[in-house]
Amino acid sequence: MANINLLLFVIEAISYFTLMVMLLHFRHRIGLGMFLTALGVMHFMETYLAAVFYVEVPFGIVSPGSSVFFTGKLMMILMLYLQEDAAVVRQPIYGLFLGNLLTVGIAWLLQWHVPVELSPSRAPSDEFLQEMGWLMIWGTAILYLDAIGIILLYERLGRYLKHKIVLRFMICGFVLLTFDQIAFFGALHYVVGVPLAAFWGGWKAKMFAVCIYTALFAIYELWIGRAVVTPNARPISDIFSDLTFRERYNDLLSRTGRDVLTGLYDRTRMELEAPIMIRESLRQGQYATVMIMDADHFKGVNDQFGHLQGDEVLRAIALRLGTILRAADRMYRFGGEEFVAICPATDHGEALRLAERLRWTIETSVMTPDARPVTISIGVATVGEDGDDFTSLLTVADQRLYQAKKNGRNCIVGGPAIDDIAAAH
Ligand code: GH3
Ligand code: MG
Ligand code: MG
Repeated sequence: MANINLLLFVIEAISYFTLMVMLLHFRHRIGLGMFLTALGVMHFMETYLAAVFYVEVPFGIVSPGSSVFFTGKLMMILMLYLQEDAAVVRQPIYGLFLGNLLTVGIAWLLQWHVPVELSPSRAPSDEFLQEMGWLMIWGTAILYLDAIGIILLYERLGRYLKHKIVLRFMICGFVLLTFDQIAFFGALHYVVGVPLAAFWGGWKAKMFAVCIYTALFAIYELWIGRAVVTPNARPISDIFSDLTFRERYNDLLSRTGRDVLTGLYDRTRMELEAPIMIRESLRQGQYATVMIMDADHFKGVNDQFGHLQGDEVLRAIALRLGTILRAADRMYRFGGEEFVAICPATDHGEALRLAERLRWTIETSVMTPDARPVTISIGVATVGEDGDDFTSLLTVADQRLYQAKKNGRNCIVGGPAIDDIAAAH
């Protein structure tokens, strides 16, 4: 009998998953409401079964309501999140939460009725209504935590297993359903006296269900999900690269605000980030430096070799500057052949040494097509005497750049006190 129950258990899981995933898959054609409604209706069924219906399988006494359908619902919430985003998955999470509270409230109210007997063979029963008490409220709270937890964990695992979505799906199922089993059966055990054997049987059944759902999820991701949605099949290596909404957003964010020629962050990005970096340094009681760099006689490079060659030289300058700057420094393309670097936790002396390395590196490693050295001039301003916000630092640095051009180019100009490096050139 236990084996037949197990077979039924597997059939139930496959049926549930197949139908729910079909509704999810065709949501653009039939509307997402169908999937969400089915999820809600099944929730009622699983709650009822978990209260009254238990069967024996080879690894213990389990309720299909909690092992197959509750587990399935949580995995469906995760799948909905993967296919859509947080704004959409919030709807069933809050809907289930509020719907459960409403059920408990209405059940309490209904018990005040005096029901009539419809026929002698069917005695009126309010047993089910009585079940809808504090245990239901506790279950509702746990379901809410489960649903939020499974999404947060999936996102967190993305840091380590970004493209292994099937593995992430499975780990999330194992962790959250273990949490659920401990939280829910813990209450049942201590308050109602449900034996510990039921805890272990239920836990094993949930883990078994997670395995089935993960296998079906992999099949869906591998063959069905992509085959129907995208007309031309993607290579297998690409199929498991699906990212969550947040990951796609972060990807996009890291690519926007970049200058196409040099790959550096652009001026818009600088205006967003630089003031924050300066403020953050000040808050930590540290210096911060702003440098502005401009290629010397760059118009001449363009005039002599053409704009495309000029572009190549610019790219070479950006690449070199980028390799000399330190990990915490940020560089932006400010204008045509002008770059701005923000150096946190850097005092003026240190900044001038860094600027000198930058100047020297460009002079010695970047060449025009006829092998003449390319040079840059740099203006440097540091938090303190030169100002205490990004705009005033940039203004001072720009005045010093102008001074560097006047001093004959290929040099650095910093504050009045420490001008010896600049004087050396
Ligand atoms: P200096 O700064 O030393 O005073 O002389 P300059 O010739 O560099 O003077 P200026 O800064 O006024 O001129 C900048 C020139 O840089 C103008 C333009 O031809 C060139 N330039 C700006 N952006 C680009 C670009 O994206 N590609 C190329 N090839 N040239 C650019
Ligand atoms: Mg210039
Ligand atoms: Mg310029």
